[in-house]
Amino acid sequence: QGLMCPEHKEEVTHYCKTCQRLVCQLCRVRRTHTSHKITPVLSAYQALREKLTKSLAYILSSQDTVQTQIAELEETVKHTEVNGSQAKEEVSQLIQGLCAMLEEKRATLLQAIEECQQERLASLHGQIREHQAMLENSGMVGYAQEVLKETDHPCFVQAAKQLHNRILRATDSLQSFRPAANASFSHFQLDVSRELKLLTDLAFIRAPEAPVIDTQRTYTYDQIFLCWRLPQHSPPAWHYTVEFRKTDAKAKGLKLWQRREEVRGTCALVEYLDTDSVYVLRVKGYNKAGFGDYSEDIYLHTPPAPVLNFFLDNRWGFNRDRLAISKDQRAVRSVPGIPMLFAAERLMTSCHLSIDLVIGDVAITQGKSYWACCVDPSSYLVKVGVGLESKLQEWFQVPQDVVSPR
Ligand SMILES: [Zn+2]
Ligand SMILES: [Zn+2]
Repeated sequence: QGLMCPEHKEEVTHYCKTCQRLVCQLCRVRRTHTSHKITPVLSAYQALREKLTKSLAYILSSQDTVQTQIAELEETVKHTEVNGSQAKEEVSQLIQGLCAMLEEKRATLLQAIEECQQERLASLHGQIREHQAMLENSGMVGYAQEVLKETDHPCFVQAAKQLHNRILRATDSLQSFRPAANASFSHFQLDVSRELKLLTDLAFIRAPEAPVIDTQRTYTYDQIFLCWRLPQHSPPAWHYTVEFRKTDAKAKGLKLWQRREEVRGTCALVEYLDTDSVYVLRVKGYNKAGFGDYSEDIYLHTPPAPVLNFFLDNRWGFNRDRLAISKDQRAVRSVPGIPMLFAAERLMTSCHLSIDLVIGDVAITQGKSYWACCVDPSSYLVKVGVGLESKLQEWFQVPQDVVSPR
């Protein structure tokens, strides 16, 4: 006799896969199993047995892996214990340091109060003694009364000379009476609200937040000058890791990130890039708490041709009032000013053009060149171009009849 259905007391004949339980004939027709996957017990037996055998065989054949994983877990347990204890020890030491410093501070502050208190008490006691000397039955008053009884003139003068000074001083202190010391200790109060707040805020340091790429200061030539900053309330970073990779639509899968590690400061130069390519870059900060989140990816397109290396000649060929060559002789800037205004005036009233010319040390005879131009909002009409040598010579010879050589 096989297993019985606990509900219907019938022998179980089938297995409901959906409910994962054995069912009898009566169960089968019940509404609860409508549209459920129901198989005869035999096929369920065969299927399950096969699966179980397979799984068991897999486990038995993977004993090495099981051992390795157990070893790894045990190693992790050890590390957890060691690192946890170490972290506790470090925090405990730091707090102990704080306590020691607080204790030291307490001693210094109490010492200051104690000294002041002693000094004041000494003054006050002195003043009390002075006043007690003025009491009717005191030594000084009694002595004075005795001296006054003296009738021998020289003797009287001899005795009264010192005494009178003492009496005068006593009278003085009587008339201009005020306690020799202030009883208030209001200037020995502490305000620890700031320190309490700091202590309340004392918490485990957090890793730096995700940096924000500063697109205003980031430039792409054949190098990328990448700038970023941390969000305002981010914990500070000790250094940064900059990662970059070329995106290649044709290549299958993504290239690996290349890394620039331990970058101090908030900008980095990425060199040796391919021309006319899109690079994706990201940054993350690091401090005692480890690495923070990555910045958002930034996609930058390198120029279509290598950068032309040239120097501008700063000796001749241009109007110094209107053009200024940069220190590295790689850039030239149009200088606004009176001559520029006059030039602009002519431009407004007639068709005269003001052409400024600067010569470089490299002659370009072919190919495409790209020039980076920055036009300020306050600029007048600006056109930039490269001159043909023959046209330039013409222009030098007859500068009045200007035909734009561009
Ligand atoms: Zn049943
Ligand atoms: Zn079922």
